[in-house]
Amino acid sequence: MAKEVLECSFCGRKKPETNLLIAGIDSHICDKCIEQAHGIVVEELKQTGNADLAAELILLKPKEIRAFLDDYVIGQDQTKKVMSVAVYNHYKRLMQIQLEDEVEIEKSNILMVGQTGTGKTLVAKTIAKMLNVPLAIVDATVLTEAGYVGEDVESILTRLLQAADYDVAKAERGIVFIDEIDKIARKSDNPSITRDVSGEGVQQALLKLLEGTVVNVPPKGGRKHPDQKFVEVNTQNILFIAGGAFDGIERIISKRLNRQAVGYSSSIGTDHIDKDNLLQYLIPKDVKDFGLIPEIIGRLPVLTHMDPLDAETLRAILTEPKNALVKQYKKLFEMDDVALTFEEEALDYIVEKALEYKLGARGLRSLCEAILTDAMYELPSSNDKHLQVTKDYAENSLNKNLLQRLKAVS
Ligand code: ADP
Repeated sequence: MAKEVLECSFCGRKKPETNLLIAGIDSHICDKCIEQAHGIVVEELKQTGNADLAAELILLKPKEIRAFLDDYVIGQDQTKKVMSVAVYNHYKRLMQIQLEDEVEIEKSNILMVGQTGTGKTLVAKTIAKMLNVPLAIVDATVLTEAGYVGEDVESILTRLLQAADYDVAKAERGIVFIDEIDKIARKSDNPSITRDVSGEGVQQALLKLLEGTVVNVPPKGGRKHPDQKFVEVNTQNILFIAGGAFDGIERIISKRLNRQAVGYSSSIGTDHIDKDNLLQYLIPKDVKDFGLIPEIIGRLPVLTHMDPLDAETLRAILTEPKNALVKQYKKLFEMDDVALTFEEEALDYIVEKALEYKLGARGLRSLCEAILTDAMYELPSSNDKHLQVTKDYAENSLNKNLLQRLKAVS
């Protein structure tokens, strides 16, 4: 019997005429037909308006979003839950807009209140990573009203465009994290004080961006638009996450709670209040009393707080997240064939020092760096292939390096 020459079941090309022939159950398809079919699928999706979304957005359920956050962020239960729901709704809303439904779901921009170093930026970054959307991190303190020295609010979108590699459609579905939003709070409750350049004016300018508008954005010499002055960006589907430490807001919360406690309608007695973490009782009115204008608060409808980091959380941050510091250092040493281990007591000691010098989670990195610098210098050229960091080793290295300097400033 003559040997059968395989052919594409779609176009009939013989195997030698194709670059690739893929076998199915009882048929074959060639590379050219695959390409053509892919083109048809993309076109078809474009017609129904869901092309990019279907191709790029993987819409996870809130519990799955939460699980993703758990891999990177320790603690912060309330924020994780609230964020998972807000992000889920935001992207559901995006799908719905594509379908041009009648019931328009409003945006769920988020406001995170919590001390610096508690993971606000980390949460925003993790969400962006999970969704594979561009993220711009901007500092509200550099923003000023148009016409003043500093950056116009539009610069926020320039950053987002840059993060999206100047793909406008991508930028329009991105995330903007506005850090230090509390720094543009009105400095006084008296609105008649002399014009406050960095405060209320900026809040007003931000309003439009938050609610959704088309903005002319200067791409700032982006290579892809050498002769184009402005790029139009629609902020309607951009998720804004604002964060701030709101130093002193605990006083506002505590005052309100005390007032509530004496009122007969009180539901929380003052003796049940956890005074070490007043932020958990935060309500939008506290943020307003702090100095954000009500319109801004209205456009950041999802309000959440970050818990302060206690010893247990700091300890977990050292070892548990997917890219935990201890894992990172182990990897670095591994590249020189050095096995790095930490004794439990050494880790406890690092946490103790971070708390003692109020260094927070960010300080963990500088402490580890100070402990390991000598070893990172010596070991690559030595025959020693093990390093066990004991409490004594940690204490000695820290005393030699960082602690002297920390003691000098404290
Ligand atoms: P914030 O934005 O609140 O000032 P960051 O998100 O920048 O704080 O946190 C600084 C660093 O501290 C992060 O890069 C991360 O390594 C670590 N960190 C802070 N909080 C957490 C947390 N809850 N879980 C894991 N790591 C954290």
